[in-house]
Amino acid sequence: MSIEVVAVPDFSVEQQQSPSAPAQQNVVEKVNLLGMSRPQMEKFFEDLGEKKFRAGQVMKWIHQFFVTDFAEMTNISGKLREKLEKIAEVKAPEVVHRNYSKDGTRKWVFRVGDGEGSLVETVLIPAEDKTGARKTLCISSQVGCALDCSFCSTGKQGFQRDLNQAEIIGQLWMANFSYMEEVPVAERERSVTNVVMMGMGEPLLNYDAVLNSMRIMLDDFAYGMSKRRVTLSTSGVVPKIDQLAQDIDVALAISLHAPNDELRNELVPINKKYPLEQLISACQRYITKDGNESSRKHVTIEYVMLDGVNDHPEHAQQMIKLLKNLPSKINLIPFNPFPHAPYGRSSRNRIISFQKTLSDAGFVCTIRQTRGDDIDAACGQLVGQVADRTRRAEQWKKKIAAQGEIIRSRG
Ligand code: SAH
Ligand code: SF4
Repeated sequence: MSIEVVAVPDFSVEQQQSPSAPAQQNVVEKVNLLGMSRPQMEKFFEDLGEKKFRAGQVMKWIHQFFVTDFAEMTNISGKLREKLEKIAEVKAPEVVHRNYSKDGTRKWVFRVGDGEGSLVETVLIPAEDKTGARKTLCISSQVGCALDCSFCSTGKQGFQRDLNQAEIIGQLWMANFSYMEEVPVAERERSVTNVVMMGMGEPLLNYDAVLNSMRIMLDDFAYGMSKRRVTLSTSGVVPKIDQLAQDIDVALAISLHAPNDELRNELVPINKKYPLEQLISACQRYITKDGNESSRKHVTIEYVMLDGVNDHPEHAQQMIKLLKNLPSKINLIPFNPFPHAPYGRSSRNRIISFQKTLSDAGFVCTIRQTRGDDIDAACGQLVGQVADRTRRAEQWKKKIAAQGEIIRSRG
């Protein structure tokens, strides 16, 4: 961020303050408008003595035409544009690596801080569905994750920090922009059709930033996405599921991965705090709160298939019982291995017979296609191998070293 010496009103937006900014009066960091929701941007313009509707105008330039230079925002007066140039900016996180796969999958690695491990990933996965070409973007919400699920490479990095709104929505901005870079401003369109909050981190543990970012996704002055096409995935932070139900309408996915508490405590440790009974009830409340909304008719249940661990016929039977009163669609995810992972992927036959048991019991049950393998963009492989200095990562490396294995970092 660049530092400018200008006189500005006292904006109460979180992006303005920099912990490293000198305490000298009138020296401020530029405000990054990229991550502001509409109410936040309206307040920003009101504090400047401008009309609220400027917020909608500027949001359209940023999120629909991918313009970051105020000079190009032609329906804004020259005077206001000059003022904005002095005090504000539109800045996406820095891309340090991009990789476009043969199958159409795209991946970006963003730098969101100074440390060696301050990197997050975003993956775009194209697919055809009944409604046409779909482009689903998998967005990260945190650098690392505190929850330490035993099969997840992000968990092995430990938690570093929450992403802010500009860093979260910046991932969507960049993915759309990647298709529009060469297109004249007037002809630019948004390409990403679906968002899943399934990248690095637990979105419900970075609640406010994720909520405001999803509001920008749904806002007609920004991405105007359908609420059915924005999905939040959680490992089960029960109180926040209830709060989400009050605050916004988006689709909900639950990382279940085990059909009984004993096994789930092992695979998804947050289950010790919020066991299955509480989790399933929260899902039922999420649905029934506003059951006529199509985004709220069911929850998606994610279930990673771990060879010999959670893929026995009895586990499928337990699933049937557990989910019998919860309208749900089940998505079986073949485990994506990472170096030194303590699990293997269930065989194709095992996954298919698991699926058959659930389908025969009346569930809609799909098997996730593994995409982007050639660029390490599959689930659970997101920057998982990037070295970092957190304690958990150190412990993990020690454990591996103790097993006499060679630690390979693929930075
Ligand atoms: N923290 C959230 C969202 C990010 S994880 C959550 O847990 O839901 C996104 C999905 O990828 C989750 O369903 C997670 O369980 C799954 N996942 C993590 N590691 C994986 C791996 N190695 N192979 C397959 N899926 C994995
Ligand atoms: Fe965190 Fe989700 Fe990975 Fe669990 S699966 S460690 S909650 S990112």
